[in-house]
Amino acid sequence: MDAIHEKLKVIAPATGEQIGEIEETPISKVGLFYHKGRTAFLSWSNLPIEERLRYLRRLKDIMVTQMEDTASIIATDTGKVVTEALIADIMPTLDSIDHICKHANKILKRKKVTTPILLVGKKSFIEYMPRGVVLVISPWNYPLQLAMVPMISALATGNTVILKPSEVTPLVGKCIEDLFQKAGFPEGVVQFAHGGKEVGAAFTNGKPDYIFFTGSVRTGKIIQEIAAKELIPTTLELGGKDPMIVFKDAHLERAAKGAAWAAFTNSGQVCMSAERLYVEKNVYPQFISLLKKEILSLRQGTDANADVGSMTFPAQIQIVKEQLEDAIQNGAVLETGIPPEEWKNDMFLPLTLVTNVNHQMKVIQEESFGPLLPVIPFETEEEAVNLANDTVYGLNASVWSSDRQKARRVASKLISGGVVINDAIITVANHGLPFGGAKQSGIGRYHGDTGLKIFCHEKSIIEDTGRKKSEIHWYPYKEKYPLFLTLFKSYFNERRNWLQFAKSYLSILKKS
Ligand code: ADP
Repeated sequence: MDAIHEKLKVIAPATGEQIGEIEETPISKVGLFYHKGRTAFLSWSNLPIEERLRYLRRLKDIMVTQMEDTASIIATDTGKVVTEALIADIMPTLDSIDHICKHANKILKRKKVTTPILLVGKKSFIEYMPRGVVLVISPWNYPLQLAMVPMISALATGNTVILKPSEVTPLVGKCIEDLFQKAGFPEGVVQFAHGGKEVGAAFTNGKPDYIFFTGSVRTGKIIQEIAAKELIPTTLELGGKDPMIVFKDAHLERAAKGAAWAAFTNSGQVCMSAERLYVEKNVYPQFISLLKKEILSLRQGTDANADVGSMTFPAQIQIVKEQLEDAIQNGAVLETGIPPEEWKNDMFLPLTLVTNVNHQMKVIQEESFGPLLPVIPFETEEEAVNLANDTVYGLNASVWSSDRQKARRVASKLISGGVVINDAIITVANHGLPFGGAKQSGIGRYHGDTGLKIFCHEKSIIEDTGRKKSEIHWYPYKEKYPLFLTLFKSYFNERRNWLQFAKSYLSILKKS
């Protein structure tokens, strides 16, 4: 036992007050966690799936009963408004449990697939086998759903889980632990490692069977390097710099309201928030004025009626500030908000719309993760697509137009894990759709069928009755070569020659 346990301070970002302390998991316990996880895996993975899903249903019931308490914990720990804690953190988690409970059985069932005639007499199947102990490392922006959805998916498939929640929102990490404890999961099936990046690194090095990471590109690359050394499979859900494209034929009032929400929800601390706005030139001035009006109507605060909460992670403020300073120094114009040197020393950043930006600026190329929205006019559809694709990211995007054909055409050309037409962000809210990024936004997908299958070894099985003495492809090969040539030529020819096929097949069979 470690004599001294480090404590994680719980700071409410909106007020700066320390509201608690949480004991860190000592790094010396990493081995014990994996031992427990592997032991629990033996029985958990052998439970019929319906029994595992029963635990998830119990978890959901508890979450429904404790919905208001959980929303309040999330809001306090992140500074986000309570409405967003409910609609964007709790709801998607509950919905994912529902989805998984409804579909997991079918998705994970042994599946029969067709067997080619060349393998006559055999049957083919796909089976899904859980991997073992899954390490989930989660971030602070949606601390409930981005931890719980991968956890639930891994658990449903028969894996055991270790969660390392973000140290920035430790209260939510503890809240998730309490929820699982109340649901009564068997010992060792779900474990919690609280602490910062050292704890995350120690568990990454502990040889998990799978790593599911959500966080920054920088940390994602560090984790992938460690995983590569042991060939541990991973899913990496990383950053974004999502474009929003508004064509002149869009419902402009709707698009302006949508832009304000997509850019400033969760104070812009969303990997899928709108971080670049492209507006067709003919409607540019009109759109800017509609958007300014919308932004100015938003109210920041901590009460239940507020629209935008505080920032969560103090270090993020500096990133947003530097990007804005860089843009202003290079000629950008503030349409809303105030110059960074006039910002108050608190966690509520001005909701900032900037124009007169160019595509090389940091504000266009780098993830802001704050309430900062740069706008650029465009003239043609092709130009809009090229601009939208011109960053290292590719998580999500939105296209706004009343011309359905055009919107779909543009959506298809965007290099992006998801695209929303005439709305933004919400692909993540349909658990039936795969979620993940292109380019530096990540590797892999979750949600939907994929979200369960990634946590399994996808196993191919071919079954023979075992009643024949030999097989045509076995030894001896004597005199078989010309017969195989005839067999394959008759089979793979554009017009199959079944007579020749049957004859050569029988001849090979005789020689086997
Ligand atoms: P952000 O703070 O923007 O969410 P990070 O990538 O820094 O992004 O953090 C996401 C999660 O990764 C957190 O739980 C954090 O503690 C964890 N983490 C940070 N650095 C490492 C690391 N080197 N190894 C493992 N986990 C890490």
